Amino acid sequence: MNMMVVACGDTAILIDAGVMFPEPELLGVDLIIPDLRPLQRYNIAALVLTHGHEDHIGAVPHVLDAVKGPIYGTAFTLALVENKLDEHDEAVRNRLVRVKPRERVTIGAFTIEFLRVTHSIPDCVALAIETPHGVVIHTGDFKIDQTPIDGELVDFHRLAQLGASGVLALLADSTNVERRGFTGSEVEVTDAFEEIFTNAEGKIVVATFASSIYRMQILVDLAAQFDRRVAFVGRGVMDNSETAQRLGYLRMPAGVQIKDSDVRSFPAQDVVCICTGSQGEPQAALPRIAIDDHRHVRLDPEDVVVFSAREIPGNEKAIGRVMNHIARRGAEVVYEGIKHVHVSGHGSEEELKLMLSLVRPAYFVPIHGEYRQLARHARVATRVSRGTKAILAETGDLIRFDAEGGRVADKVPAGRILIDGTRSGEVGDEVLRDRRHLAGDGLVVPVVAIGRQSGALEETPDVITRGFVLDARTEALLKEIPSLLAAAIEGASVEERTDPGLIKERIRVDLQRFFRKRSGLRPLVLPVIMEI
Ligand SMILES: [Zn+2]
Ligand SMILES: [Zn+2]
Repeated sequence: MNMMVVACGDTAILIDAGVMFPEPELLGVDLIIPDLRPLQRYNIAALVLTHGHEDHIGAVPHVLDAVKGPIYGTAFTLALVENKLDEHDEAVRNRLVRVKPRERVTIGAFTIEFLRVTHSIPDCVALAIETPHGVVIHTGDFKIDQTPIDGELVDFHRLAQLGASGVLALLADSTNVERRGFTGSEVEVTDAFEEIFTNAEGKIVVATFASSIYRMQILVDLAAQFDRRVAFVGRGVMDNSETAQRLGYLRMPAGVQIKDSDVRSFPAQDVVCICTGSQGEPQAALPRIAIDDHRHVRLDPEDVVVFSAREIPGNEKAIGRVMNHIARRGAEVVYEGIKHVHVSGHGSEEELKLMLSLVRPAYFVPIHGEYRQLARHARVATRVSRGTKAILAETGDLIRFDAEGGRVADKVPAGRILIDGTRSGEVGDEVLRDRRHLAGDGLVVPVVAIGRQSGALEETPDVITRGFVLDARTEALLKEIPSLLAAAIEGASVEERTDPGLIKERIRVDLQRFFRKRSGLRPLVLPVIMEI
């Protein structure tokens, strides 16, 4: 989740703090953040952010307590962080320190210089960290976009200068090391969209990541050129496009933008909708539009719907379902496999080589990728620069640089924390197990009336089920429950019987064992005790 501590003597800084989105098996888990325990052994003086993607800033609200000092980032990155804070987080807002490329800040033993890199979101930086033992360069996420939409080029000059004067270690993005050649510029998708704008007879609906400001700019410019109005549909794109416009990262010609609620009042051929939901998320705009369940936008057969985003592994089925719904409404579906409507933000092999040959570090640490990608990147590095030693490290590894050189020297606990809701509520293993049982085998609620004094069963127990498959076999099981409950209560001591908490637990355990043994099922058993 892209969270890293760099420490020397008494100085420690944290670089990025991202989140992961849960796989479907993690029922009801909204977010995964990194295990924060290892941070306790450091006195962290600052949080330094490379860019505003969720996998780099998503956990910022959760790590703030572990960081004593400022939070450094570029204007756009910090604006996205601010969107995550509550109104009452005034103290946190005051800790945000905006930096610009080439700016240097000193934090204890470190001086950090921010260097412009290009990626799929504006205002990304690499970090050059001057330490008492040499310079460490952290690329952040990058590709080499030589015609960036905002004209902000990669700072090759400074990277080369630093390389010439000697770099201790380079830590670089490995995501696309398996792709040959160059990734390509963000502007490359313009041609495909131009074709779509030329031919579309109805609405153009484009789903993209809420942070894809460059993609939005291309669409806004084409809309202006083709006399269409742009509506942002869905919370994420509304918020981020608003933030980007306010800070000057998204230029909106006058009269082009309309509200989502106004989409209906314009002729279809005059409208472009930019929406959330490119991953098939059920609550997002496009999946709702696809099943004709959106307040403001509906699809017609002349419309074109474009998926302008990467398919995140695991989401294929959900995305496929949304595409099918769109096709059922008669609209045309366009995605990366059909037209070049998406380009990655991560550099391919040749771009990674270029970074390596500019910096020529003594040590190279591949980061941001699956282990096989890190391993491949390490091999690429030693091919590019023979003097470079690669250090392959996994999550939780501690790399030490000292008089004996650089190596993986230790391990720290590095798990993950599951979060329910966006800010609060850690989801424990127990909660997850309950949810799994509920999802798999349903819920069984025995309702038991017990005499307050006697602790005796007052009525034949009732059993309510939800999501529990009823067939001949399970019906027979359910019929056995009242006598089983009677036996359980009789078998309990008077103290147990007259204590609702204790008797509840006993019934739960007995019934769970009964279901498991007799049927292999593990429904969630939730006894209700009525004291009479
Ligand atoms: Zn990124
Ligand atoms: Zn990333």
